[in-house]
Amino acid sequence: MAKHWAEPVTTALRADGLRVSEIDPSATPGFTGDKQLGKQLLSERGAVLSDLQERLFADGRTGGKRSVLLVLQGMDTAGKGGIVRHVIGSVDPQGVDHASFGVPTEEEKQHDFLWRIHKRLPAHGQIGVFDRSHYEDVLVVRVHNLVPQAEWEQRYDLINTFEREVADAGTTIVKVAMFVSLDEQKRRLRERLERPDKHWKFNPSDITERGYWPEYQKAYQAILERTNTDYAPWYVVPADSKWYARLAVTELLIDALNRLELDWPTADFDVDEQLRRLDES
Ligand code: AMP
Ligand code: MG
Repeated sequence: MAKHWAEPVTTALRADGLRVSEIDPSATPGFTGDKQLGKQLLSERGAVLSDLQERLFADGRTGGKRSVLLVLQGMDTAGKGGIVRHVIGSVDPQGVDHASFGVPTEEEKQHDFLWRIHKRLPAHGQIGVFDRSHYEDVLVVRVHNLVPQAEWEQRYDLINTFEREVADAGTTIVKVAMFVSLDEQKRRLRERLERPDKHWKFNPSDITERGYWPEYQKAYQAILERTNTDYAPWYVVPADSKWYARLAVTELLIDALNRLELDWPTADFDVDEQLRRLDES
């Protein structure tokens, strides 16, 4: 177990049996330290993550078929972008494949909802990061009935089948649902409006969506109940404290990579012989 955690992060955040209405977005489950310690640990643990990521990359370069996929979901301002910058930002960019999924393009709309997702799955040795994902197709799509209910209802099973295949092919899937409170979201949206350097992040529809909060809660409840599998588990991350969310996701990735038990690839050349040649060169 990681230092300053009362229980493994995977247990503290596992979504099993959780009621969305009972999530406290300001909580810091499992962590025994405060904000200052949390921030300090983030860089320390970021270095551990970076070392593990390099092992995964090296494994991929030498014939390994494994990869990791981090799926990030959360309401606007929940801090998905901050995870990408501050957690994923601590590892070598050449080992990361980042994909964000917005409103489907005309071309994407012509295809099955998983078409654009398939295309962005991580290659061997990579950490793939989905900033939003196929879950939008049972979140925003469900809340606004963008397709008939009969169609989105089927998607839970389709998603489970899809993720099973992805996991069987060697990808460790880590799904993170970030929960920000309605009040904290208001504060963050206000900041986006009051600071010109944040205007680019603001979208008037973010305020409209606040009106659908209970419907979104219900849609999140459904994904936690229907797509929380042992091969692609959901973790619920309270996100009012940015430092906590970042530390928690760092620990989740460290755990996922540790479970791969990655050794450094053995040399396919004779090291002593190469040292001799180098000396003589
Ligand atoms: P952002 O992540 O702030 O750039 O916003 C992306 C927007 O795209 C969000 O409002 C999402 O709800 C929306 N979006 C993502 N995927 C879908 C989808 N499959 N159908 C409709 N809207 C989507
Ligand atoms: Mg947005």
